Amino acid sequence: PIEAADRLKRLPTQFFASLVSKVNRQIAQGHDVINLGQGNPDQPTPAHIVTALQQSAPDPKYHKYSPFSGYGFLKEAIAKRYLDDYGVELDPETEVAILFGGKTGLVEISQCLLNPGDVCLVPDPGYPDYWSGVELAGGRMAFMPLKEQNGFLPDYSALSPDDVNKAKLMFVNYPNNPTAACAPASFYDDTIEFAAKHGIVVASDFAYGAIGFDGKRPVSFLERPGSKEVGVEFYTLSKTYNMAGWRVGFALGNADVVRLINLIQDHYYVSLFGGIQAAAAYALTAPQDCVRQLNDVYESRRNALFGALSRIGWEAKPSDGSFFAWLPVPKRYSSAEFADLLLNEAHVMVAPGIGFGTHGEGYVRVGLLSSEERLEEAVRRIGALNLFG
Ligand code: PLP
Repeated sequence: PIEAADRLKRLPTQFFASLVSKVNRQIAQGHDVINLGQGNPDQPTPAHIVTALQQSAPDPKYHKYSPFSGYGFLKEAIAKRYLDDYGVELDPETEVAILFGGKTGLVEISQCLLNPGDVCLVPDPGYPDYWSGVELAGGRMAFMPLKEQNGFLPDYSALSPDDVNKAKLMFVNYPNNPTAACAPASFYDDTIEFAAKHGIVVASDFAYGAIGFDGKRPVSFLERPGSKEVGVEFYTLSKTYNMAGWRVGFALGNADVVRLINLIQDHYYVSLFGGIQAAAAYALTAPQDCVRQLNDVYESRRNALFGALSRIGWEAKPSDGSFFAWLPVPKRYSSAEFADLLLNEAHVMVAPGIGFGTHGEGYVRVGLLSSEERLEEAVRRIGALNLFG
């Protein structure tokens, strides 16, 4: 057999792969499994955006290589969106990089900034792709615990001074996957001050920026003074417009970091298909009613889920944003045992918190990616097991 290079052996194992195979086994046995474990948007891309792709795809000018680092019109469209939504001014040429989804940039930024042995501060629990980038770069992770009593925000004063001194990069992610917490503006101000003091680049992952509940609009890192001096924000169309399969994302902000991300991308790719870039620009510049509707759908689902949970005595803090719910597990089970129990006894799949880091233990993550009826049915089945109260 051909052996992988050492850097690939360091990659985290895909924790959820074994769960998915258990689900597939149950489905093959004829069970009606309600899958609340994964993070794939269930609704289609809005029709006007699909139509834009149908119109742009036949244009021969898009059948050649796109320009390196993408079309100017798409960079202008995202800059205009940030100006309208957040009052943030971005220079499309120097402060915007087009990515193949947010994921590529979140992995590449570690390769852009970390030398072997450099530290990256990573939220725990957190989105596992941050780990992959740090491992591929030969960096070292120092985890920042996200605790419920701190509103799932990291406490910078509790980090080891040695880690902080060696840190070159840090990730923050609000609305948060997996805890569904949002961050106040003051959190970003503290983060900017901390990063500037220690010479750390901030990577703000704003993948769920469009999804905030109870009338609270999630704050963008770039809205806060001094943000562009210390970092970039990653934005993606995957969730905002149900375009996860289209692979369109951006890195926005600090011009040096944007230049480095474009540099590394030039070696891997040219750029996205021009027809997709044209439709993506249309998504960003057309009226934004679909985004408001999307938020309403997730808010109704959140309300249905938490209403049902309280009826069975499962007490949990309602989600502030993102399309997840982060639910505490009864003390007598580990998160993996509890997820197995729900799958075996109720045919409901949830994601065990341990898959998102050590501090994810004690919780499971539920996706708001099924209809209200299916979410209520899942909770009804779990309630029948009499595990709470
Ligand atoms: N960041 C977070 C926290 C996510 O949950 C995801 C996707 O699930 C992404 C980034 C990446 O999304 P994409 O690569 O589709 O832009």
